[in-house]
Amino acid sequence: MPELPEVETIRRQLAPVIEGRAIAAACVRDPKWVQPVRSSAFERGLTGRTIVHAGRRGKYFSFKLDDGAFLIMHLRMTGNLLYLSESAAVPEKYLRGTLTLDGGAALAFVDPRRFGTALVLADADQADGYFAARLGPEPFDTSFSGDLLHAVTRGRKTSIKAVLLDQRTVAGVGNIYADEALYRAGISPRRRASRLTKAQCERLGDGVRAALRAGIDAKGASIDDFRDAYGVRGSFQDQFLVHRREGLPCPSCGLPVTKTVVAGRGTYFCRDCQRD
Ligand SMILES: [Zn+2]
Repeated sequence: MPELPEVETIRRQLAPVIEGRAIAAACVRDPKWVQPVRSSAFERGLTGRTIVHAGRRGKYFSFKLDDGAFLIMHLRMTGNLLYLSESAAVPEKYLRGTLTLDGGAALAFVDPRRFGTALVLADADQADGYFAARLGPEPFDTSFSGDLLHAVTRGRKTSIKAVLLDQRTVAGVGNIYADEALYRAGISPRRRASRLTKAQCERLGDGVRAALRAGIDAKGASIDDFRDAYGVRGSFQDQFLVHRREGLPCPSCGLPVTKTVVAGRGTYFCRDCQRD
């Protein structure tokens, strides 16, 4: 399931090739992709518009258009957003929609499990409201700090991992990067959030940023479906410290990594380096 580094990998690849390009044609192949909006209305809203900025917020693509509207897309479980040069064939399998750009290149949204979404919001106020209702701060913004983590964890009786997975705590962290961030911070994923000290919250903020940065540098993690804009796998799965490494040695102490379930998700940690 794509998290911030996977979405950011695609965004960075797309920005130089789609910014300033007009959408010559929008085509919805799977009406569920844009529900509850009708396919024809979605297509009409995009055709003729120019993409002026390829942005991201949390795990969402947020593409600003020349009429001030925003095209928002989320990959959910298995979505991929592919860039196809003018000579490339459009993949028919699992295709949910395409945006053909002036000059003939295209973006194709491919998604076997069909949970991914796309919508158009009319202006920046609507986009800001949409994200404010769903997302906390961006992890690389100064507003995301140890102090903030300390404040939001007070009174939270749930595990710190559940708090990290909540997109309203910090935008873009999912199961992979939560495990990696908690390991880097030396904090058990099972620890009750309200019991974290200020120093631990500082370390966790640093851990979140370090784990996400490593993921971006490796062009994302491809455990199953993730591919970048050119259909290439990321390599971060080869650099996991604990995630998906059950029984393998902890990089720090050498004891075998433990797998358990926290917040309903398969969770990997070192019992010695991350004490409850
Ligand atoms: Zn260890």
